[in-house]
Amino acid sequence: MRLADRMANFDSSGIRRIFDLARTLPNPINLSIGQPHFDVPRPVRQAAIEAIESGKNGYAVSQGMPVLRDKLQQHIDAQYGHADRLVFVTSGTSGGLVLALLALVNPGDEVVVFDPYFVSYKPLVALAEGKCVLVDTYPDFCIDLDRVRNAITPRTRVILFNSPANPTGAVATEAEIRELALLAAERGIALVSDEIYNAFCFDGPFVSPAKYNPQTVVVDGFSKTYGITGWRVGFTHGPGNVIEAMTRLQQYTYVCAPQPFQWASAAALEVDPTPYLDDYRQKRDRMVAGLSDLYEIHRPGGAFYLFPKVPRGTGSEFVLEAIEHQLLIIPGHIFSNRDTHFRLSYAADDATLDRGIEVLRKLAQG
Ligand code: PMP
Repeated sequence: MRLADRMANFDSSGIRRIFDLARTLPNPINLSIGQPHFDVPRPVRQAAIEAIESGKNGYAVSQGMPVLRDKLQQHIDAQYGHADRLVFVTSGTSGGLVLALLALVNPGDEVVVFDPYFVSYKPLVALAEGKCVLVDTYPDFCIDLDRVRNAITPRTRVILFNSPANPTGAVATEAEIRELALLAAERGIALVSDEIYNAFCFDGPFVSPAKYNPQTVVVDGFSKTYGITGWRVGFTHGPGNVIEAMTRLQQYTYVCAPQPFQWASAAALEVDPTPYLDDYRQKRDRMVAGLSDLYEIHRPGGAFYLFPKVPRGTGSEFVLEAIEHQLLIIPGHIFSNRDTHFRLSYAADDATLDRGIEVLRKLAQG
């Protein structure tokens, strides 16, 4: 059957090829997965079971169950104290991103995206009929304000920002965040901040651009912090008119985030994620120590990814070589206009990480 033209924007052949190859491996060293390796904290699992058993299985109100939304609103008010900052519950962080872009971007509007970028950003901007304007952040993945200024035109409507970042693990400095926030405010450009990795900030406290720009639209979620990527609960906070528009769109699209998992996410807010942060900090250090003499790596400050430069050839070629050694990693071009790096997720047990380091050392030396 003939598909709509827009489907040309959704190409998954690159990643699919890797996973097809992966399925043929008997004992893969899988460092390709973008989700935590730890089990869901017990009280969070119990809250989900209890919600299901006690009949909390129907539709939720579109803005989110009060048990979760009210708690989030209290946290956000305490943190920011903005006069006009509302929160609502979304279907994962992805749901928040889709609705934010649909609510903010007109056809032909430009959206500034930093390269390397999270894999969904380009297709989602296309879905909103916007145009991605990439700002290159190689080689250190820092935000260069001059490059951002040069990318801005009268059509720029949104800057899409992500720190800690997927795929690089880079955490922008507070000065970079402040300058970006103030630039967006000064130019009247909506700043959309994807903060899904905010619990995984290793070398200092997490800073949101919303601290400096009260108009910032923050998309966030529970997926990574508590290892519940399959539960599809996120939240977005920002100016009331944006949140109201996004909630209206949600009513006709996702309808709501799954009700039982909203109850469980409310319970998750009582769980301290610091032990996971400490664990991933150690894994970051283990990987950097194991690889940085042989690979160009910018020591990442957060998330659970490394984005090293390949020692030779292209990222795609290198990933095929790695797969021959049972190692699964993702070529950089999936997240970038360049094909010079690869993404490695260290959300895995230490034995798997050590096997990965061994293969990567062999590949770099070979
Ligand atoms: N933003 C970034 C930067 C991500 O890495 C991911 C998940 N890989 C998402 C958003 C989507 O998260 P969710 O599962 O909550 O939709």
